[in-house]
Amino acid sequence: MTQAALIGQVGLRMRFEESIGMARRMVPSSFECDCGHQSHFCEGTVRDMEADSRRRHKRMHLMDSEVEEHAIEFKDGVATAVICPKQGRRKITGWLIP
Ligand SMILES: [Zn+2]
Repeated sequence: MTQAALIGQVGLRMRFEESIGMARRMVPSSFECDCGHQSHFCEGTVRDMEADSRRRHKRMHLMDSEVEEHAIEFKDGVATAVICPKQGRRKITGWLIP
């Protein structure tokens, strides 16, 4: 592999990592995707998903059933990512502080 090709690959991977981690949690039951889409759920629904994912030790998805359907991914009792129909999986990095 040439050095130029190697640098190109590293640059690509860095850009990819920078593009991850843009989804945020607004309130316990609402999430905002990187594309601007917001998914709102009942707090009880989110709590049930958190409890189920913790109990089953597997990844679970909660769909928001909107036109541009997004899913919230839960793992081990925590909301870990938003699945975007346009941008793919966006890791939830934290809470959106207004
Ligand atoms: Zn989105």
